[in-house]
Amino acid sequence: MFYSSTRGDTKKVQSAEAIIKGLAPDKGLYTPDCIPTLSEDEKIFIKKSSYKEVAKLIFGKFLTDFSKEQIEKCVELAYNNSFEQANVAPVYKLDDNTEILELWHGPTCAFKDVALQILPYFLTTAIEITGEKNEIAIIVATSGDTGKAALEGFKDVKGTKIVVLYPSEGVSLVQKQQMITQEGSNVSVIAIRGNFDDAQTAAKNIFINDELNEKLLQDGIKLSSANSINWGRLLPQIVYYIKSSLDFNSNNVDYIVPTGNFGNILAAYFAKKMNAPVGKLICASNQNNVLTDFIKTGIYDKRREFVKTISPSMDILISSNLERLLYELSNHNTTLIQNLMNDLEQKGYYKIPHDLKEEIDKLFYATSATDDETKEAIKNCYDKYQYLLDTHTAVAYHGYLEYQKDDKNNKSNKTIIVSTASPYKFPIGVCSALNIDINKNEYELLNTLETLTKVKIPAPLQGLEDKKILHSLICDKEEILPTIMELL
Ligand SMILES: *Cc1c(COP(=O)(O)O)cnc(C)c1O
Repeated sequence: MFYSSTRGDTKKVQSAEAIIKGLAPDKGLYTPDCIPTLSEDEKIFIKKSSYKEVAKLIFGKFLTDFSKEQIEKCVELAYNNSFEQANVAPVYKLDDNTEILELWHGPTCAFKDVALQILPYFLTTAIEITGEKNEIAIIVATSGDTGKAALEGFKDVKGTKIVVLYPSEGVSLVQKQQMITQEGSNVSVIAIRGNFDDAQTAAKNIFINDELNEKLLQDGIKLSSANSINWGRLLPQIVYYIKSSLDFNSNNVDYIVPTGNFGNILAAYFAKKMNAPVGKLICASNQNNVLTDFIKTGIYDKRREFVKTISPSMDILISSNLERLLYELSNHNTTLIQNLMNDLEQKGYYKIPHDLKEEIDKLFYATSATDDETKEAIKNCYDKYQYLLDTHTAVAYHGYLEYQKDDKNNKSNKTIIVSTASPYKFPIGVCSALNIDINKNEYELLNTLETLTKVKIPAPLQGLEDKKILHSLICDKEEILPTIMELL
């Protein structure tokens, strides 16, 4: 199977190269030339197989330059012991027609683990396949969740090193403590005096600095990205949509996905294209509702104020993976994609053609929630089901109620609400929703929440405050580059 850039770069690549490169040379996103489908026999197999077996089947269809043994090894290494449950993505039944898909039983308690636990193995295997001799160095700028998930994924993986940059004042106490206590012989964590944009800009500047890349290559180091535009991060997410939709035994399952960069919900779209019984895709945004407006109007307009919300992992105004959807729906019209992306860069917005908008209407529905509505959703769901939602999943739960309320919608399908984080990862928002006094430190809030709800604190977050601090490097913006060079 070949992968092409969404922006028309003429060189097709196989999956190993797409995963190593991350982004195509013309800044487009690598996307498979054709989407494989599932046969009826395969669907029967999926229903009776474990998560790992399903993952092997799906990966085999996309990673055709990997051997069967290589794929098996990646899956076993990634999913053997790192998730609390052997089935990686368990569901919680709210009622006969509604389930919550819990994607946060991995080592960092957020859904990014599902992809970031396996990406390092995809990457090291890709290196074997392409004969790449250099050590791979990953540089990640993070506003919280991605950094920790990438650290856990890459720690002690042979042939790789990872450096995480985070804004010293821009992450929660739990998130910071998770990162600065990170173990592993190949990991570095740097706090930056600045905000997330400063960290992100620093990371980008390193990638595009040819001289620096050349110098690193001479020392046997090649830079790569663990960003969510990497095909190796999207692919693992398709698995849980296929498995959960088939397991629900319904003709069609609607999914409600709390969305930021559009990666997770795009995986649901690919599962649908592969013939899984996936119905409507409901895109749930927080107050940064650029996608809600886009799905409703066909106009993507990032010219708006960036809002800091209680669901910070969805505070995004440029949803990179949307480009892949437009590429798919326009039948790989790369000229159109180029024009739209140029408009976005130069004018700050773009408008899609009418026929594309019609396709979007058939597939998607969009909602958005303010912080108050998010808290209300947490309270409602807890009061009604004694089920505790995190702030991101609550945005989706609010979307679920909105979708049910709208008379125009067909409600005969079953519904799965996608849950992307443990409530204990965002204790301030969750406690405030339940009217718990939040004038305490975050660790105390975790205990209060546990006592009140009897929902156990996940093991990776227990005793976090007593863990040994291993990374105390802090630097100014100007010192980032020399600091990283020294570390590598
Ligand atoms: C990253 C993240 C999201 C958003 O996922 P996208 O794939 O970027 O749309 C939602 N919830 C949580 C908890 C996340 O960490």
